[in-house]
Amino acid sequence: MKIQWLGTAAAEGWPAVFCRCEACRKAAELGGKNIRTRAGAIVDDVLLIDLNPDLYAQKLNLGLDLCLIQDVIVTHNHGDHLTPLYAEFRNPAYYGKKLPVLPVFGPSDIMDGLLPYKEYLELHIVDTGDEFDTTMHHVTTLPAVHSAKLGKFYLIERDGRSFLYMHDTGFTCNEALEMLRERVKRPIDLVSMDCTYGPNPLPPGYTSHMGFVENIRMKERLLRDGVADGHTRFVSNHFSHNGHMLHEEMCRYMAPYGIEIAFDGMIAEI
Ligand SMILES: [Zn+2]
Ligand SMILES: [Zn+2]
Ligand SMILES: [Zn+2]
Repeated sequence: MKIQWLGTAAAEGWPAVFCRCEACRKAAELGGKNIRTRAGAIVDDVLLIDLNPDLYAQKLNLGLDLCLIQDVIVTHNHGDHLTPLYAEFRNPAYYGKKLPVLPVFGPSDIMDGLLPYKEYLELHIVDTGDEFDTTMHHVTTLPAVHSAKLGKFYLIERDGRSFLYMHDTGFTCNEALEMLRERVKRPIDLVSMDCTYGPNPLPPGYTSHMGFVENIRMKERLLRDGVADGHTRFVSNHFSHNGHMLHEEMCRYMAPYGIEIAFDGMIAEI
């Protein structure tokens, strides 16, 4: 399986939309891996995760061929993960020819935004525990703990390989972790974890996202549960500028824990 992170920022992007903080100024000045667009990923060039608002810029910057996409899975109905306008661009009026109907899978609350474009889409509501097949992959739907109540995250499998895309969710997603413990027969190959807070502590009682501390504990938990092992790659992703650490600093911070830092365009082969 080939996984490519298209965007690796939290909702506001980095540099953030309306911000001149030092972290944003430094990122703009240094460029490269410090420039982070809104979060999304693509698996084997054909399975798109989320319709993030920066998908078009990512196509240009990363040289993506979005015509290869055969299916879309959507995690939740926050604007940084679901921009229904992209569904409008399946309209044949823009191309003078019909595009194949695009299957989109996601929780029920994403469907309202997509319904105006249902002619061009095949909409599939998925709920906690549902397993389904896309054109090339087998997908398991897991419940996130997030401010979007119906938020899901996904285990994606193909040819005996597996990828867990844990965005957006907090650390206390015990129901999902229990389901993984029951269902995963062979340790997961790659885990991408929500890391919105980076080095910052979470506000007291806050459960919607994770930071470095929670990512380190999540890795320990998945290893302890036997759903991951020594071969599993762990990646932190979905960063807010409020964390203030630039890419290289984050890499240095997490290296001792065996956790990689995602950047826009990063590719992993598993
Ligand atoms: Zn998000
Ligand atoms: Zn900033
Ligand atoms: Zn969210």
